[in-house]
Amino acid sequence: MIKVIIFDLDGTLYQNSEISNKFAEAAYHAIAKLKNISVDEAKQLIEHKRAQMRSTYGDPVPYTLTLRSVGMSTEHWHEENIAYFDPRDYLKEDERLLNSLSVLKKQYRLAILTNNNSVQTNRTLEALGVKHLFDKVYTYNTFKLLKPDPEFVRRAIQEMDVRPEECCFVGDRYNVDLEPARRLNMHVCEVKGPSDIYALARDFRCD
Ligand SMILES: [Mg+2]
Repeated sequence: MIKVIIFDLDGTLYQNSEISNKFAEAAYHAIAKLKNISVDEAKQLIEHKRAQMRSTYGDPVPYTLTLRSVGMSTEHWHEENIAYFDPRDYLKEDERLLNSLSVLKKQYRLAILTNNNSVQTNRTLEALGVKHLFDKVYTYNTFKLLKPDPEFVRRAIQEMDVRPEECCFVGDRYNVDLEPARRLNMHVCEVKGPSDIYALARDFRCD
């Protein structure tokens, strides 16, 4: 019996091209500063690296993992993107998301598990108007671990005191979100974005 539904955040609970662009710009500026190169050169370096990493992580490759591979620590990257933009400037309350999650909340505990940092995650959940619905929010800051390391999700479910088969992981990237959950014997639900989350309340089903 499923007790907990664990959601990825970015690309799963919202999709927003301005925020995607801000993440990209923040990454280019951060690497330009770190390596003392131009923003254009940083862009070329990062996008070339992302293209190389696609077979491992699927498309698109998270910036957190890309920047780590070119020598920027996750802590440093998070400091840079927190200072660069605020998701609250680009997101608004999503009533359909709120309604769907509220229905699910009557039957399940809800959690977030994201590679994003705690500051941007809180800003995002606040802007969407759904922060109060999550029993637990796991970010990079919680255990200093990143998906697809299965240890991240293993530690989270241990802390929530549930077995893998009592959890369903809902996410938009199979290789990053769902494959590690699958390996632990959790249920998974692949979504294309928030429109699939709106439907979950009336049709919750996972593999
Ligand atoms: Mg995602």
